[in-house]
Amino acid sequence: MKIISPYLRPYKKLIFITLLLATINQVFSLLDPFIIGKLINYYSDTKDKVTADVFVKAVLFFIALAIGAAMMSRIAKNFQDYCLSIITQKVGTDIYTAGIKHTLAMPYQLFEDQRSGETLGRLQKVKTDCERLISSFINIMFTSLVGLIFVMIISFTVNWKIALFYMAAIPIIGFLSSFLSKKIKVIQKKIVGETTALAGSTTESLRNIELVKSLGLTDQEVNRLNTNTRKILGLELKKVKYIRTLSFIQGTIINLLRNAVIVFLIYLVFKNEIKIGDYMLFFMYSFFIFNPLQEFGNIIQLYRETEVSLNNFKQLMEQPVEDIPANPVKMGAIKEMEFANVSFKHLTSTRYALKNVSFKIKTGETIAFVGPSGSGKTTLVKLLVGLYKPAEGNISYNGTPYTNIDINELRSQLGFVTQDSQLFSGTIKENLLFVKPTATDEECMTALNRAACHSLLNRADKGLDTVIGEGGIKISGGEKQRISIARALLRQPNLLVFDEATSALDSLTEEEISETIRSLSTSKEHITVLIAHRLSTIMHANTIYVFEKGAIIEYGTHEQLVNNKGLYYAMWRQQVGEAIES
Ligand code: ADP
Ligand code: MG
Repeated sequence: MKIISPYLRPYKKLIFITLLLATINQVFSLLDPFIIGKLINYYSDTKDKVTADVFVKAVLFFIALAIGAAMMSRIAKNFQDYCLSIITQKVGTDIYTAGIKHTLAMPYQLFEDQRSGETLGRLQKVKTDCERLISSFINIMFTSLVGLIFVMIISFTVNWKIALFYMAAIPIIGFLSSFLSKKIKVIQKKIVGETTALAGSTTESLRNIELVKSLGLTDQEVNRLNTNTRKILGLELKKVKYIRTLSFIQGTIINLLRNAVIVFLIYLVFKNEIKIGDYMLFFMYSFFIFNPLQEFGNIIQLYRETEVSLNNFKQLMEQPVEDIPANPVKMGAIKEMEFANVSFKHLTSTRYALKNVSFKIKTGETIAFVGPSGSGKTTLVKLLVGLYKPAEGNISYNGTPYTNIDINELRSQLGFVTQDSQLFSGTIKENLLFVKPTATDEECMTALNRAACHSLLNRADKGLDTVIGEGGIKISGGEKQRISIARALLRQPNLLVFDEATSALDSLTEEEISETIRSLSTSKEHITVLIAHRLSTIMHANTIYVFEKGAIIEYGTHEQLVNNKGLYYAMWRQQVGEAIES
């Protein structure tokens, strides 16, 4: 529960006002029966002693007071609810955004292993739990505490025996509630865990819907989800059983206690220790006190639930964020970049994905990485753009080691196109402006033209404002890739990286885009890093590095490598052969 306090602190004043309003609301609503009790006392005392005229006036006076008190209570209650919803909404949102912000600041490597649906589900849960807990704390816990104090004071002034009686009853109900809700905690924890896992796997199967559907795995997926849902249902039913038992036992005991109060009060009336109006008053107060006590079980349960989700939240917030150097060196435009004996291992892997990789590159140069799939090319690129940190060795940009640079300064100079580039649904322009919000239409058009998007632009009836994807024109994989390339170019990057950017395309389209990439790299304005399966795409590179199992096994120009008659030569022969056959 300590976790939530920093999020409450900014609203201290508002919380105080809300508590004040809750106090006013509760005190005035308890004054209402008090006044009626006094009225009945007045009636029994003066029945035959005053004239009708005096009596009616007195009654009207009491009733006016009672109406006034009820009115006060209602007004305070309205303001209380208003303030309370401001608090809960704001605190809930603050927690949620803090969680999102933290998640985005986490190193990519940690994030990669987390299912995004799970993270969002957890954040959503902690948000709603906190909102509910805050409102029931103020609306029920605090309000009944005020009520309890008020009733105690009144009962002491009327007859101390009533106060004693109440005091004995309260711990009985409190103990009962907490005892049973403890049992619920265990099952609750299990449910929260399973529900978040289910939420995660649901988004998973929706995200991979293409795979699921195309392979005819729909039934299998539905079954998997159903099994999960049934498991949760079983747990939920068990929980409901506990809660029902709890409220049944509680209801019975409270009913007994209330009847005991009646017997006791009537005895006091009989003994002439209290008046009939006081009997009425305390009879009504017993509802005021005992009813919210019945809610205690629910609140304790809610408290436990919130505790579990807050612990999940804490776990998330305790994940380390990317460390940012205290005084990063301003490196300016990237002019050269060097890998020195870099090794890297994935979190979930036991062997190194990259071992002792060294190379150097300057502006105007193009290098290429080739090798069988799984040889570590993508891993290398992710290190290069700062998504991963090397386990050993050093990466330096303009001579500054990666530990001393501002990673965002590096990334702002980057154009990065991957095999499965993501576009957002929206207009072409929105997709481009995403990486450079200040770009003009002219800049956008230049980038699109350089990325060979002519055929797409011809089809786009509204030009840059044409909606693509859902609800707009359908675009092919090749066109999508070209927009991604245009997006990368729009930034006028100093470091342009293509990781199998064309591998998903047919060979004609690939050739066309490769042509684009080649003409880009001859402009000598930036560093170009190419990874491609088809070697004809990269054969113009200044240096080609051949990877096998995470290590560079040979490097050189295309001619040198072909003459070497190593792995590169073998791959080249195979592809040339393919080309001749087809
Ligand atoms: P390439 O791009 O050359 O096909 P990758 O760099 O993607 O190869 O992968 C290199 C090795 O690292 C492979 O053995 C792959 O299974 C492993 N690998 C890649 N990503 C992860 C990851 N997130 N967690 C664990 N292992 C990974
Ligand atoms: Mg790859």
